Amino acid sequence: NSVYAIERWGKDLVGVLPNGDLGLRNPLKPDAPMVSLPVILQDLEERGVHAPLLLRVSSFLESSIRALNESFASAIKRAGYKNEYRAVFPVKVNQQAQVISRIVEFGKPYSHGLEAGSKPELVIALAQPLAHDALIVCNGVKDAEFIRLAILSRKLGFNTVIVLESPKELQTVLAVVKELGEEPQLGVRVKLSNRISGNWAESSGDRSTFGMHTDQLVDVIDSLKEAGLIHCLKFQHSHLGSQIPDVNDVRRATGEACRYFVELTREGAPLTHLDLGGGLGVDYTGEKSTNENSINYSVDEYCTNIVETVSYALDEAKIPHPILVTESGRAVVATSSMLIFNVLEATLYDSHNPTVPAAEDHHFVSDLAAVSGYLEPQRLQECINDSSFYRNELRALFRRGYIDLRQMARAERIYLHLMSKIKSLAPEVGTAPDVDAHLEQLADIYHCNFSLFQSLPDVWAIDQVHPLVPLQMLNVAPDRRAVLSDITCDSDGKIDKFILADGISPSLPVHTLDESKPYYIGVFYVGAYQETLGDLHNLFGDTNVATIDLRDDGSFDLLHEQEGDTIAEVLSYVEYDPRDCVDAFRARIDNEISHKRLNPKDRKTLLAAYRDSINGYTYYE
Ligand code: PLP
Repeated sequence: NSVYAIERWGKDLVGVLPNGDLGLRNPLKPDAPMVSLPVILQDLEERGVHAPLLLRVSSFLESSIRALNESFASAIKRAGYKNEYRAVFPVKVNQQAQVISRIVEFGKPYSHGLEAGSKPELVIALAQPLAHDALIVCNGVKDAEFIRLAILSRKLGFNTVIVLESPKELQTVLAVVKELGEEPQLGVRVKLSNRISGNWAESSGDRSTFGMHTDQLVDVIDSLKEAGLIHCLKFQHSHLGSQIPDVNDVRRATGEACRYFVELTREGAPLTHLDLGGGLGVDYTGEKSTNENSINYSVDEYCTNIVETVSYALDEAKIPHPILVTESGRAVVATSSMLIFNVLEATLYDSHNPTVPAAEDHHFVSDLAAVSGYLEPQRLQECINDSSFYRNELRALFRRGYIDLRQMARAERIYLHLMSKIKSLAPEVGTAPDVDAHLEQLADIYHCNFSLFQSLPDVWAIDQVHPLVPLQMLNVAPDRRAVLSDITCDSDGKIDKFILADGISPSLPVHTLDESKPYYIGVFYVGAYQETLGDLHNLFGDTNVATIDLRDDGSFDLLHEQEGDTIAEVLSYVEYDPRDCVDAFRARIDNEISHKRLNPKDRKTLLAAYRDSINGYTYYE
């Protein structure tokens, strides 16, 4: 099982059981036995919860909330920092009710708050039983309605902050303040000039689309002073982008944010909170490096870097330490969900059945078959060259009508048989890059029951790489390699980048499928951004979702189940009324009956088939 590098990325969450099942560990109880994922799936199947399935593990979420808050608390203690840390979870990273309510519950002892980047997200935040001193930070473009709700929420005891994105937004705030006669708690979003590396570099630096530059900040300060409201400016915010790979970028950006904090304080703003946004990354590959799917630091290092940088900078400026805020989303929620799907069938690119040319076959078919006569470890490249040549020639002859379908099929079978021999010899000798590249082209295609566009949109959009591993037989050496194709009719709907022990690979080691048993694959660390960024390509809807908790004795509790979209639900998202669809189908049947092309008793069967589909799951059942 070490081929999948599970021990590297799985850390304290995922491991392999002696029977070869992938197991989930409870990070809050390291001594508790692991819980087998295939056993969990079988149990859920029996309860009627089928794959594809998004599985959320409550203890994973609780553990990352604890880790973030407690790492900041320890860093604060170690550095002698004279204030506290307050986390806010950005609702946009996972808005699902079950996730938000658990974050609020697990975060309560730490006064973990929420960040709202839009009116709907503020509406969600204001419906949560947050701790009394938890923050609600309002970012994003705000109209008067948004601002009105944010200001009025303070009357209910919510600790809501309006972060100004521009001087123009301040004018809207001033108008609402005048209308309500209530004072707001304000912040400013500062545009930092430091740029980060990685996938989200565009979110940082001069050309990032959010935040105010120095001139605009001065404008806001002057307007607030003029309005007699400078005492409301308590909060400074900046956000560098998500998944910051290099901790030194965090340190540099924090230093720059401190310069603004000092200057704004000197300008007369009574700032009390320094918010450094998101960016704390997840080590998807487990490599601890600065490539875009990894990070070169731990949560502890991240916290220590921030606390120490702020502490030095503000001590030097003789300014009291502010409350530190971060808006960590990905690091809180990514590891807590996994997507699980079954493999439906395989297209194999080799064959173990030898085939002999027929007497009437073109001589290229026997030339192709003759390659196996000189196939030996030292001549792999030569054999690949020859067999490709003969196959291409035969394909050309087929296209021009010189050879028939059965002759072509024999040639293909001979070719695939040669390839299976080459595949089995290749590991013995170690291969040249050209041979490797050719063999990668011969990876099987495993057709899987999920939609990349619905469940893993970042894999499609930004080449995000998630840990991905078969959930069973991990004590048996995989005997095949495959790319994974999804159930949409889109050639982009495939996964062909996998985290393996020796790096990122274009194919995944897998086992030969056994028709009598399901073969499950899990994609890990999908809890951040994927659920609502996913779309309805080919009208595959939300998958089933189950939230579980891991018990001390190696069993689990099903805490919540959310059925995936039915076809009727998905149709209604794209402007159909499912009842109209049924009516139209029924009218068509009745028309056929009235023309005597259908028997009246066929009506029931046809209608039942249509209704079964429209009320069913959008995925392969
Ligand atoms: N805060 C703001 C303003 C954001 O735009 C984002 C996302 O990009 C976040 C916080 C969350 O960032 P992350 O998921 O890296 O923690």
